[in-house]
Order: sequence, then C-alpha cells, then structure tokens
Amino acid sequence: MAIEQLLILIKPDGIKKSLTGNILTKLSEAKMIIIGAKVVKVSRELAEKHYFHLKDKPFFAELAEYIQGKIYGAPWDRVLALVYQGEDAIARMRKIAGATNPEEADPVSIRGAYGRITTKGIYENVVHCSSDPAEAEREIKLWFKPEEIVNKIYPTKKVKQENEETVWE
Ligand code: UDP
Ligand code: MG
Repeated sequence: MAIEQLLILIKPDGIKKSLTGNILTKLSEAKMIIIGAKVVKVSRELAEKHYFHLKDKPFFAELAEYIQGKIYGAPWDRVLALVYQGEDAIARMRKIAGATNPEEADPVSIRGAYGRITTKGIYENVVHCSSDPAEAEREIKLWFKPEEIVNKIYPTKKVKQENEETVWE
C-alpha cells in the first residue's frame, strides 16, 4: 500500500462547537503523522478555489461562506488546517471522517457524531478530508507553502521574491 498525504480541515463549526480535541483524538486512532498544521482565516478567494469543483451548485455561495465561518463571525471564523501522512491515508481518514451527508454518515464517524444539516440545507459536517491523491496534492499546495510542511512530499523550486514581508520586531 502506498504512503499518502492529505489535507484535513477542522471547519468553523468544529471550532465553534469546541470539537478540536475530540476530532484530533478520533484522527489519531489512525496512527498517522502530522506533517503540517496551522490556523487559517479563510479568504473568499481561498474558499472559492478550495471548492471550485462545486462552483455550479446552487449552494456554492453558502458553502464558501460556511468554510469562511461567516455565519459564526469572530472568533470562530477560522479553520485548523492539517496535513496527515500515512499508509493508505486517504481512504482510512475518509472512513474516520464519515460520509458527506451527516445524516447518512456512520454515527461513530466524526461527521456522523458531530455534523448537522442547516435549515438552508448546507451539510455542516465539521471536517474536510481530501478524497483522492490528485485532490490531496492540489489542496495541500493551495493551503500550505513548501516550508510549512516538515517532510518533502512534492518537488519544489527556488524563486527570488521582491515582495514586502512582515517579520517579528
Ligand atoms: N455539501 C453540501 N451539500 C451537498 C454536497 C456538499 O452542503 O449536497 C458541502 C459539504 O459541507 C461537503 C462540501 O460541500 O463537505 C464539499 O462537498 P464534497 O462533495 O466534496 O464532499 P466531501 O468531499 O467534503 O465529503
Ligand atoms: Mg470533496
């Protein structure tokens, strides 16, 4: 079996419901390693890029607002982004996360235990989990810079940056 990596997001509903610890505990049962982790305030651009495969769905605008945490506002308008690596990681983590629709998800999966469907019909399913290796690569490259991942997983190149950068005083 192949060593894979994938992106997992603890979505704003997971943050607001104080589920971060419970979700990490359930994920840790798979005995995989974390190779990247950070808190992200999701811009509209990032939200739309992340869910671009759903851009023609009637719920796209609400979905983009959901991942940005707009419905909750500060201080819940953020996600915890994680990159896990392990054997057969994608299928195994998808099983722990559960089916997309929280009502259909296995009740002991993360989405089955903690998800809900909003009155507007959005599946607030607490976590995002990449669904195949190509999607995982696209998502990891979208959410993380190479230096934020502690293992070398994809080829990199050096480029000269002229941009202004914020550093510690
Ligand atoms: N989603 C929704 N209604 C749907 C399908 C998807 O609200 O009918 C939301 C849900 O939050 C889901 C996300 O859109 O997690 C991305 O959908 P996808 O089909 O990629 O499911 P996932 O890979 O997250 O299981
Ligand atoms: Mg998906």
